[in-house]
Amino acid sequence: MLNLQPINPKKKLTKHAVKANNMTVLTIGGYRIFPGETKKIELPVAKLYTDTEVSLPVYIVRGKKAGPTIFVSAAIHGDELNGIEIIRRLIASNKLKVIAGTLIAVPMVNVYGVVNQSRYMPDRRDLNRCFPGSSKGSFAGRLANIFLHEIVKHCDYGIDLHTGAIHRSNLPQIRANMSDDKTTELAIAFGTPVIINADILDGSLRSSAKDNDTKVLVYEAGEALRFDEFSILAGIKGVLNVLRHLGMIRKSRSRKKSVLPVIAYNSGWVRANASGFVSHKFELGDEVEKNQILAEIGSPYGDVIEKVRSKHDGIIVGKQNIPLVQEGEAMYHIAYFNEDTGDIVEQIENEQVDLIASEELGAEL
Ligand SMILES: [Zn+2]
Repeated sequence: MLNLQPINPKKKLTKHAVKANNMTVLTIGGYRIFPGETKKIELPVAKLYTDTEVSLPVYIVRGKKAGPTIFVSAAIHGDELNGIEIIRRLIASNKLKVIAGTLIAVPMVNVYGVVNQSRYMPDRRDLNRCFPGSSKGSFAGRLANIFLHEIVKHCDYGIDLHTGAIHRSNLPQIRANMSDDKTTELAIAFGTPVIINADILDGSLRSSAKDNDTKVLVYEAGEALRFDEFSILAGIKGVLNVLRHLGMIRKSRSRKKSVLPVIAYNSGWVRANASGFVSHKFELGDEVEKNQILAEIGSPYGDVIEKVRSKHDGIIVGKQNIPLVQEGEAMYHIAYFNEDTGDIVEQIENEQVDLIASEELGAEL
């Protein structure tokens, strides 16, 4: 049975925001947070079977002025640690001075997965396939439901922080629904050089957020169970860029040089057609051409048994790191940008955006 009681029951109010003295009061986990306030909340979720209490840490910063409400969440997959570090440093940053609107930061959504260093929930479900869930549903479904009702429901926008899987690295990238104008605007504001239009999967946080009219960006960078300094820095900068774009924090005085982001409307994995030992020819962020050799797969005797080729022109946005491969395994994730594939790519000019230079990515990754 989930314990949804607030830690201090005297402070319990309704779940949803109420108006008091013409100022909107935000209520999360029974706690009221007023404009101009900063609050840390422990949102109770299902106990461990050891009778140990478990809670989601939630950090809320409200500006004095009215403005949008945005969540920033991490570790919905419990082994994806970069996002936790992004939120930790964001909270400590002197740049996080919210003047308008509300930021709700949730550094660990799948807190059980973080404890177990696992992508999954203890019931072996992927939390990001269990939305919207319900209060009477599965273990994962109940957590999804709490996150949806206590956090997402209040928000106009969200940024969900992810990494690649174990032994797979992602180039810092935004994935979002680019058919929505406001989402596109925020994706560009974030400032990664590559944006990928991504379909919304059933049961994902993004699908439930869409039903709530909450526009969500997914930031993907680095690999699971590792801190990647460049991905962390790009993530902090990206979140601040979005907050700045929404008028929630002050504009930055310094103007770094702008790089135009590439928007890919399609991407795909290149798979191995043989098993063996891998010599990679390219790195994350490299541009590749159709039929270019991305890697060679060799036998234990030193001979090359397979050349792995790109199917289209594009940019490498994901890569497996273990130099061993089985036939059929995914090796490179490529964002396509060649017209002959029928994919559309746009380069968008936006002088206001403080973009992360692609040369930096090449150097750091
Ligand atoms: Zn993930």
